[in-house]
Amino acid sequence: MGLAHRLAGKRQIKLAEFDPGEVAGLKRGQAEKKTARLLEELTELQELLYAVQAQSLLVILQGRDTSGKDGTIRRVTGPLNSQSCSVASFKVPTEEELAHDFLWRVHAQTPAAGDIKIFNRSHYEDVLVVRVHELVPEQVWRPRYEHINAFERLLADSGTIILKFYLHISKAEQEKRLRKRENDPIKSWKLSVGDWQEREYWDAYSEAYEEALNRCSAKHAPWFVVPADKKWFRDLAVAEAMRDALIPFKDEWLKKLKELGREKRKAIDEYRRGKK
Ligand code: AMP
Ligand code: MG
Repeated sequence: MGLAHRLAGKRQIKLAEFDPGEVAGLKRGQAEKKTARLLEELTELQELLYAVQAQSLLVILQGRDTSGKDGTIRRVTGPLNSQSCSVASFKVPTEEELAHDFLWRVHAQTPAAGDIKIFNRSHYEDVLVVRVHELVPEQVWRPRYEHINAFERLLADSGTIILKFYLHISKAEQEKRLRKRENDPIKSWKLSVGDWQEREYWDAYSEAYEEALNRCSAKHAPWFVVPADKKWFRDLAVAEAMRDALIPFKDEWLKKLKELGREKRKAIDEYRRGKK
């Protein structure tokens, strides 16, 4: 059983069911050690994923302001090999992006075979911020759940392993983080009056997240509710879910690489014999 709450289809949830402060009886030091081990394992799995080129991994990070999307990228996916792991951040769409369907800019960023891609925000913004602020009429955003499901099905059918993380923080923890940010000169670039304004829509966001999680969870594209008030627990839960998603492929990947090695050695042997 994973530390993050995995949603893969049937279960309909309310966010209030989940305690953002949950730590599963762990202490910080213990958790950090486990995370470090998982990151070593993940780095090895990344190498196999890259070597075999049969699958790709897409990690989607969503959550309210200060929920820790940037921190997760720094601490969990940051240590991975940047040759085959990169981040795409989705901001307010540009004029050109808005002139296309909402998945256009997203599809362009999906990972190639062998690669890992981290989405800092994603196509889910188009049923979150867009819905909460009525940036388009309901007739436009409502059908998007179906579009998202079809899109993710297409990616999965094409060999993409999809993991979607909702970083679940409490309203009190968000206030603490926003205030702390104001007192940290290095974080000044992150300050935004918009974050305080968005906070007023807390409940509307909860509803929008619940619908996205309930309607767009599938075995091939699960959502994970990650208790995120404790950063060290969040990091551990995300690292663990990533490892758990890749580990079932390990034997198959090793087998393929052995076969590949045999074929290549055969070609080298033939070349050497021809030289004699
Ligand atoms: P940040 O993640 O702090 O850099 O902020 C990015 C901003 O872009 C957030 O306020 C998002 O809500 C906003 N954003 C991302 N995608 C969309 C979208 N499709 N439509 C409108 N706003 C978006
Ligand atoms: Mg922000």
